[in-house]
Amino acid sequence: MDMERTVTLSTGQRMPVVGLGTWKSAAGQVEQAVLSALDCGYRHVDCASAYGNEEEVGGALAQRVGPGKELRREEVFVTSKLWNTKHHPEDVEEACRSSLAQLSLSYLDLYLVHWPMAFQRGEELMPRRADGTVCYSDTHYLETWRAMEALVDQGLVRAIGLSNFSARQMDDVIGAARHRPAVNQVECHPYLSQASLLSHCRSVGVCMTAYSPLGSGDRPWASADEPRLLDDPKLGAIAEKYQKTAAQVVLRWQVQRGVVCVPKSVTPSRIQQNLQVCDFSLSKEDMRQVEALDRGERYIVPTVERDGQRVWRDAEHPHFPFHDAF
Ligand code: NAP
Repeated sequence: MDMERTVTLSTGQRMPVVGLGTWKSAAGQVEQAVLSALDCGYRHVDCASAYGNEEEVGGALAQRVGPGKELRREEVFVTSKLWNTKHHPEDVEEACRSSLAQLSLSYLDLYLVHWPMAFQRGEELMPRRADGTVCYSDTHYLETWRAMEALVDQGLVRAIGLSNFSARQMDDVIGAARHRPAVNQVECHPYLSQASLLSHCRSVGVCMTAYSPLGSGDRPWASADEPRLLDDPKLGAIAEKYQKTAAQVVLRWQVQRGVVCVPKSVTPSRIQQNLQVCDFSLSKEDMRQVEALDRGERYIVPTVERDGQRVWRDAEHPHFPFHDAF
């Protein structure tokens, strides 16, 4: 694997700078997407139990990875995530083993705590009361972290990390950790550049991964008339200059500032295009231009309607991460 196409995590593992995202990749499409990705050179797949498609991802991995197949297991970096209903320390190992079974793997390269907020234990993804509100649990993420560390000790996962944690919450975990978090995976794109969180991650040796790096145009709650990140005229102008697409400029910007990206696509031509970001570099001025598009716009926060207003669904959870400035 080419050196500039990977970053080295605090564990010493090399993680490819572009991975295939799989959230919303529908049944009947995701297997083909993973096969296309592996066949055109992806060596990193971003999964999660909550996406409900790990079995199909596993079907694709089984066709390409392992003894007698094109790829050795060590050549592919696979991430999965522990869902909010599985934070209780007694549930963590079973949740990890269930993802492993679905993905047909014997270990994960990286296992993330999907959100700092714990929900009520059980099999329902979104445990709700009759009035529709989500049932929380008071399990603290530090208790969950200890159970995550045991997975490393057992060899079920090579590295553990966080997702959607604020800098303060990351520091809590780092302060108590036997195995430090290798990654914090957070929403990040030119409209939410996360400069402060990135600088904090760098200072504590945590790799930042950008989720929804293309602005998540297919998120279920996107409105039809909202301005799309990839249609931003400034990005368009930069893309034209380099004879690249807006998506490639956005991904290149991340890679060049040391941020790993996991763009999702089920379209073979886009899957291929999104990996082709290591054959050009943006000038300092263009890097600044992309950075200047930041407007603190978060797309991935569940919202609900209350008293006629759209509000953050989980704002009252004691570990809701987005009250912190970063
Ligand atoms: P995204 O990758 O920002 O955007 C996906 C959308 O962009 C899809 O509609 C896709 O369409 C389209 N697209 C992909 N490549 C394109 C290109 N080259 N040109 C134009 N359009 C393109 O959104 P995301 O799925 O929200 O985020 C990516 C991944 O991050 C997820 O799949 C998941 O693995 C991870 N994630 C993690 C969390 C977390 O809490 N940790 C949250 C959100 C996402 P087609 O598929 O139709 O090609």
